[in-house]
Amino acid sequence: MTEKCGVVGISLADRDAARPLYYSLYALQHRGQESAGIVTHDGFQQHSHVEMGLVGDAFSEDDIAGLSGATGIGHVRYPTAGSVDASCAQPFSVSFKSGSLGLSHNGNLVNADEIREELAGQGHAFTSDGDTEVIAHDLARNLLEEDLVRAVKRTMGRIHGSYSLTITHDDTVLGVRDPQGNRPLCIGELEDGYILASESAAVDTLDGELVRDVKPGELVVLHEDGSGFDTYQLVEQEHTAHCFFEHVYFARPDSVIDGKRVYEVRRDLGRKLWAESGIDSDVVMPVPDSGRAFASGYAEAANEDDEAVEFAEGLMKNRYVGRTFIMPTQDERERAVRLKLNPIKSTIEGKTVTIIDDSIVRGTTSTQLVKLLKDVGAEAVHVRIGAPPIVAPCYMGIDMASREELIASDKSVDGIADEIDADSLAYLSTEAVADVLETPQSDLCLGCVTGEYPYDIDGEATDREVGRPSVPADD
Ligand code: 5GP
Ligand code: MG
Repeated sequence: MTEKCGVVGISLADRDAARPLYYSLYALQHRGQESAGIVTHDGFQQHSHVEMGLVGDAFSEDDIAGLSGATGIGHVRYPTAGSVDASCAQPFSVSFKSGSLGLSHNGNLVNADEIREELAGQGHAFTSDGDTEVIAHDLARNLLEEDLVRAVKRTMGRIHGSYSLTITHDDTVLGVRDPQGNRPLCIGELEDGYILASESAAVDTLDGELVRDVKPGELVVLHEDGSGFDTYQLVEQEHTAHCFFEHVYFARPDSVIDGKRVYEVRRDLGRKLWAESGIDSDVVMPVPDSGRAFASGYAEAANEDDEAVEFAEGLMKNRYVGRTFIMPTQDERERAVRLKLNPIKSTIEGKTVTIIDDSIVRGTTSTQLVKLLKDVGAEAVHVRIGAPPIVAPCYMGIDMASREELIASDKSVDGIADEIDADSLAYLSTEAVADVLETPQSDLCLGCVTGEYPYDIDGEATDREVGRPSVPADD
């Protein structure tokens, strides 16, 4: 049920929210391509349209026209290996005695099964095996007994894991970020209302202003008339667990996450990579698109060190090929890399080349690229990676493959260099990542590179005192 997704919520003064929601989902498309959906509320009734596929294919003009109401939420869902399942598409919507709820979730709970069992025992019927539905039912139950803020607080006291949520409760739009702030969520101001979104790029797309990030453990309630918002710090946690991989790979470079522009972070990581493991070569070349900002920082730092290295875009990307990840077999993944990237022979032939990518997961991309570059006449191929080795799976919402598939889970860096046939290979240190993010390691989620998680996960080690979030006594 591991899901990395994009969420959004909008509340406007006096016009339908569907079209701005639709545009903002376009801006978040990179966060999920499996399904897209919007739920709106017109003051009387909830409307929903959720479909498999890309944003551009999921909505017709009629669909958007049917989504009336000045408030609503949206969702894009990431394809997870083997679970192409319409029942998990979002926003999830439910009607109950005291109104209607819509819910969009980015992240992953680690105790969803426990809560599901308990709720099922109390007569709640579940239509999917997703953890989002668990949150919706828990909240719906609490809303029968308590006001909105207390109901959300009670649910936050029960769920453990990562969650950035946008919620509609009738025509009220809410945003919630988990107490460790694992996934991003920000607040933006629009000309005639407010927006909550996974990434600030969605705010930019609507010509809005980024107000700030939602704080870990905070609830944001947008005013129904689009005039502002109220906030409630519902859960305090000593340490955050921001996902560093959002900055390394997942987020758009033009987004600002937890106060940092992702593009600048990637360039600074590239500069660190040069400082830690720079190697003399004729050409520095990004693996497009994810390696680009890293490579430009790396080449810039190299040139400042008088290395006079050429920066070249020697790998052309076919932008119509989907992500290699969703190919089911290794053979298809290898074919996909070849379809996706083609080297420009003249920039490579007879030269020593350093290729820069953000990460190595299974090792498919780098193995193929080293071979390709050597085939077109590279004299040597060095590989530099802007993140530490990924040694363990992600349980918090990034679908990275299982432990056995991760090339670094059972190999040393030298072993991997051999396997991918690189003349040299180096990764960035976790210290460098923490340094660039100006965040201590104890406030980051580094589970995939350390194998120790900031959550209490069955069968895995943890790097901190966790347990359930401590919910302050009701005031
Ligand atoms: P590999 O080919 O080693 O399995 O994967 C490495 C490539 O996948 C890198 O170019 C990196 O940008 C990309 N990548 C890293 N993490 C993810 C992810 O979670 N999903 C997808 N689709 N690609 C990823
Ligand atoms: Mg890539």
